[in-house]
Amino acid sequence: MELQTNTHYPNNTWRYSILLAVVLGTLAFMMTRQPFGQDLAYHDFADKRTFFGVPNFFDVITNVPYLLVGLAGIRYCPKNYSLSFRPAWFILFIGVAMVGAGSAYYHLNPTNETLVWDRLPMTIGFMGLFVALLSEYVDVRLGRYLLLPALLIGFFSVLYWHWVDDLRLYFWVQGMPLLVVPLLVVLFKPKYSHQAMLLIALVFYVFAKVTEIFDREIFDVSQNFISGHSLKHLLSAFGILAVVSMLKKRTPLQESSTTRSPNSEELSCLKNRA
Ligand SMILES: [Zn+2]
Repeated sequence: MELQTNTHYPNNTWRYSILLAVVLGTLAFMMTRQPFGQDLAYHDFADKRTFFGVPNFFDVITNVPYLLVGLAGIRYCPKNYSLSFRPAWFILFIGVAMVGAGSAYYHLNPTNETLVWDRLPMTIGFMGLFVALLSEYVDVRLGRYLLLPALLIGFFSVLYWHWVDDLRLYFWVQGMPLLVVPLLVVLFKPKYSHQAMLLIALVFYVFAKVTEIFDREIFDVSQNFISGHSLKHLLSAFGILAVVSMLKKRTPLQESSTTRSPNSEELSCLKNRA
């Protein structure tokens, strides 16, 4: 077993290297682009209909699922501290529930000022998910080290955009986890069942981004039934629902002594023996 553990340590080194290269490489790529600000045309959504006195009714009301799915997620936060970092999951679902309120507030009166309250909770959710998955796939102790810095970077990315109208850092905070999450699933051995649901969540998120781009076209094609942006809210809430469903259904996998990663005690033990 000692030999097996030892031979698997170098394998994990290249996995860590790929993760680090993606995190730092995407940051370097973004920050070497020309600064770009928020296009004010972003606030010009297709569906501006008022119902029951609520302006932009459907873009507002389609935020309710975030609130519901966020609360459901808090209910099913993993309780097994030894295999998962519960605070990060908790932060994810707090963030999602807050998106429900923040995004509804933004869509009542879409401006750069109100958009801050949509984006701040979104970065809380993104950073929570990112750290939760890093903790589970790589090392649960990572969560303790990374959660606070990740949240601060997320907050700073929104404030930096708000102060100097430069979206590069915010785009990195949004985009980088989308690259890292599939890498975690592919490169590392899962500790729980039902991990494919993470990829389902990712597919929902990609569809959500596509419908966001085609806001007006979808509104026209559906004969003013639903806009692409309202659909984006619903699809991304479904994505989070897939994550909640995964947490509810999954069970810890039996660790195989031939393939599992060594923990720090084992590593220091091996070093002492060498
Ligand atoms: Zn929105």
